[in-house]
Amino acid sequence: MNSEIIASLRWKKFPVLDHGFVCLVDVMGSDSAIVQAARVSYGDGTKKVSDDRTLLRYLMRHQHTTPFEMAEIKFLVRVPMDCWRQWIRHRTASVNEYSTRYSIALDAVYGTSPEAWRTQSETNRQGSGTCFDPEFGQILTDNEQQFHRQARELYEQRIRQGVAREQARKDLPLSTYTEAYWKIDLHNLFRFLALRMEPSAQYEIVQYASTIGEQIVRPLFPNCWEAFLDYQFGSVQLSRLDQGVVKRLAERGWLPATRQQFLELQDTAWKELERSRERDECYEKLQKLGLVKT
Ligand SMILES: Cc1cc2nc3c(=O)[nH]c(=O)nc-3n(C[C@H](O)[C@H](O)[C@H](O)COP(=O)(O)OP(=O)(O)OC[C@H]3O[C@@H](n4cnc5c(N)ncnc54)[C@H](O)[C@@H]3O)c2cc1C
Repeated sequence: MNSEIIASLRWKKFPVLDHGFVCLVDVMGSDSAIVQAARVSYGDGTKKVSDDRTLLRYLMRHQHTTPFEMAEIKFLVRVPMDCWRQWIRHRTASVNEYSTRYSIALDAVYGTSPEAWRTQSETNRQGSGTCFDPEFGQILTDNEQQFHRQARELYEQRIRQGVAREQARKDLPLSTYTEAYWKIDLHNLFRFLALRMEPSAQYEIVQYASTIGEQIVRPLFPNCWEAFLDYQFGSVQLSRLDQGVVKRLAERGWLPATRQQFLELQDTAWKELERSRERDECYEKLQKLGLVKT
């Protein structure tokens, strides 16, 4: 069964953004291979008390991570360089990237459509706010296209003039696509996906991570994927301080609480602060859990 799924996925290019893609090159392992590795440590006895799915869920819940390292996946990806710069920070993968010292840079850039330009977020210094009016977005897009054309022309002119490829490339924009083989074990891939599928990550890398997760990991490792969604990606981590707030609200019978009630029973360390990111995050978590009124 797994070999049929692998055959149907291998080399299939799942499109991402305008010219990007992710595709499966190779995979080693499956849900059952991870179970097999885990049973080495627990012995045959586990067969009696838990089926494969239950065991995988136990491993994920208790962060018994090494069995997930037994599976490896190799991808071919095509990504704009600014997005790749974030991607490559995940050091636990093996990478082999297209060389623009050796070859001509890919003639593909990530263009932004008029309705896709985002304002700077006012609350998150790393994030985006709302979208610009498409009329203004059109001006930004026109300017971008002109700049992309000029940058490419300058690059190709340098190449024609005999400038070394390694030097000619230095003014190419970060929106230029690069390609790479990217191989990673399932444990570290889940860590990548947990960080990069989060809506607070940059939109572009979220598209790549979600495509890898939904289109490739889910069919290859259905039970692991389900456990990942339940215990990693979809979980809410409550700190000791968060738990204190919930306990105090429950004791007063104030659940779900109003914003005012939340502020009244917030942690004492946050009380004096006009702005507190930790307090905001706590409120967001309680919103997610339906414990405060929206
Ligand atoms: C929303 C967001 C914002 C970010 N903003 C910034 C930013 O502003 N600036 C910036 O520089 N980075 C930023 N990063 C990158 C971030 O700091 C991490 O480098 C990136 O997420 C990779 O995570 P990782 O180190 O856990 O992954 P991996 O490199 O895959 O490592 C996985 C785990 O292996 C272990 N490990 C790997 N290598 C080492 C090592 N050399 N020493 C010790 N342990 C190791 C660690 O436990 C690590 O968690 C951001 C990431 C996110 C998701």
